[in-house]
Amino acid sequence: MKKQLLVLLSVCFLLLSTVGFAEAAWQPELLVSLGTKSTTLRLSGNRPVVLKRLDNKKVVWKGKAKEFATLTFGDKGWELNGKKLRKADASTLELTVEDERNLAKLVSTYDNKSYRGALRLVPHKGSLQLINRVPVEEYLQGVVPEEMPAEWNPEAVKAQAVAARTYALRQRKRHAKEGFDVCATTHCQQYGGVAVERAAANQAIKATYGEVLQYRGALVDAMFHTDSGGMTENSEDVWGGRVDCLRAAKEVRTKTYPWEKNITAQKFSELLAKRGKNIGDLKKVELSPIKIGKAGRDRTISGRVKKVTFVGKRGMATMTGNDLRNMLGLKSTLFSMSLNRHVIFIQGYGWGHGLGMSQYGAKAYADSEHWDYQRILHHYYQGAELKKLY
Ligand SMILES: [Zn+2]
Repeated sequence: MKKQLLVLLSVCFLLLSTVGFAEAAWQPELLVSLGTKSTTLRLSGNRPVVLKRLDNKKVVWKGKAKEFATLTFGDKGWELNGKKLRKADASTLELTVEDERNLAKLVSTYDNKSYRGALRLVPHKGSLQLINRVPVEEYLQGVVPEEMPAEWNPEAVKAQAVAARTYALRQRKRHAKEGFDVCATTHCQQYGGVAVERAAANQAIKATYGEVLQYRGALVDAMFHTDSGGMTENSEDVWGGRVDCLRAAKEVRTKTYPWEKNITAQKFSELLAKRGKNIGDLKKVELSPIKIGKAGRDRTISGRVKKVTFVGKRGMATMTGNDLRNMLGLKSTLFSMSLNRHVIFIQGYGWGHGLGMSQYGAKAYADSEHWDYQRILHHYYQGAELKKLY
């Protein structure tokens, strides 16, 4: 009995020590493109740094904390503080820490812009492409406050942190052909580096360290949007394909984020004609009234528009909700549409594609229903499992 207790205690001790060690342990890295920059950059680090050639790892410069190096790339190759860098020519350089285990603690700066992790400088067609090599948790610090206000309910911000982490890891290699993983714009996820970091967002990231959403062992396509307007959507009704976990989910409140748009019938007919649908003067708009959470022949399960038929003097045209959204720049496809004399009135709710987590919806569940982030995530990503990846 005593022996068993001893074994149990030592197992507990082992577990505890690995948990304690986890924060400093391995985590994945991302190569984030910061875009193309001018060919002269002033570089520094918040701790001692080295500037290395990426091909042979040869150190070409060592700097103390906050010491600057001015690096120029021109016809003759690299110049460092006004002197030509021999043999470096057109090779990629990286500003990083001497000991890779300290990468997460490094803040690299170029021209007063700071990013956690290392900076890669890639000569590219007469200019420099800048790539930030950053551990995922440090990357998220520059992403989460860009995607959701950090002062929102901490449970909503934690849900956002898990969704952003899952999304980023799933997006990895999206730009592999261009030599990096993700870009720093909304195409992948908006990333602002150290300048946008907020203490409350950092806390949410830390509280969910390494946690991701998985389905049958694979990362979930953890999409999110600003506001569903009353109900999120099934993936096949937005992109055309069924995606596991992206199922229509109810909201605490409906008819949220109302918006309006008007367009003259003449202007609308012109837009249709430009798309090869010349129906002449518009006579009638056929779309059933909006009922959130109720499907119809022209509406999806959430009430979003599937299709609208336009009757003109010379013919008819049918358009999908998504095509209309793109053509008219509408906030969502959850709308009603009517023709009143010479003007089309469009009234809608929500902002975004309606897939995955609604950010305002997550806030509402956290604020008024006191849901924790796990419950919020399970609601918006049905069937997904929350797993600690590292
Ligand atoms: Zn991208």
